This record gives sequence, C-alpha cells and structure tokens, in this order.
Amino acid sequence: MSFRIGFGMDVHRLVRGRDLYLGGVLIPSDSGAEGHSDADVMIHAICDALLGAANLGDIGQHFPDSDPALQGIDSKLILKQVLAMVGAHNYDIVNLDVMLALQKPKISPYINAMKNTLADVMGVDEGQLSIKATTTEHLGYEGRAEGITCYAVALIQNNL
Ligand code: MG
Repeated sequence: MSFRIGFGMDVHRLVRGRDLYLGGVLIPSDSGAEGHSDADVMIHAICDALLGAANLGDIGQHFPDSDPALQGIDSKLILKQVLAMVGAHNYDIVNLDVMLALQKPKISPYINAMKNTLADVMGVDEGQLSIKATTTEHLGYEGRAEGITCYAVALIQNNL
C-alpha cells in the first residue's frame, strides 16, 4: 500500500458583480470571486492538491483559462475530471484538509454545506474531508477583503 501527499493553493480576487462560490456552494456576499470559471478557489486548491499527490501536473495545465469552453464552468465539473484522472492512476482519496483564508463573509454557517456538497461530488465520506477557515486579522489582501486564498492538502493511496 503506497501513500502520496499533495498540496494545493489558489487565490482569487474579490470584485463586485460576481457570485461567490466556495466548495461548490453559493455564499451570500456583496462581492464575488473573479475568474474565468466560476472561480471556486476552494475547489481549485483541492484539484491542485489531488493532482500534486498523483504527480499529474497542475490545474492550469489541464484546464487553461485561455480555453473558451471553460468560461464560467462549474468547478465541480473540473473536480470530477481531476478525480477521474487520479482514479485512472489507481489512487483513492484517504483524506483532505482544506483551509480558507478570508476576512469576509463569515464562512462558518456554510462549512457543513460545503462538506456535504464536496463529499457528494468526490464520492467520499464527510469524515474524509476537513474544511476550515480563518481570517488574517485584517492583514494583507485577504484582510482587506481584496481576495480569498485557499490551501489544501490531499492524501491518496494506491488501490492496487
Ligand atoms: Mg483558481
């Protein structure tokens, strides 16, 4: 049984007039994440952690923001494709740990919905998926609510 670990991070700018999707959930907010896709910073960080764990490159390489077919795409569809790639290399997910850094909006009321949504998309138990959030004490771009950062660590195991 071999285990592999992967790390991912992503940043998106917050702007007026965009929806805010985090972990596949639409979060009520006066600003949303800018990006080519639906700009779900959490899903993008998870995808990079999984791709990294399987040594399969990064999300920008497989899903370039120059691809018109990906304009406005639901990032859950990207995650499903990443899972298919990782699965095709005979890996199962052991667990994921995800950390959001943002000043606002307050995320704690939505953590369970994110876990529920992502566990469903990924075909894992919610117990395999940890989602946490922190402010940055008003420091930096997250603290000024100019953007959101998400970090993710994934552990996968070979199922052969
Ligand atoms: Mg991104």
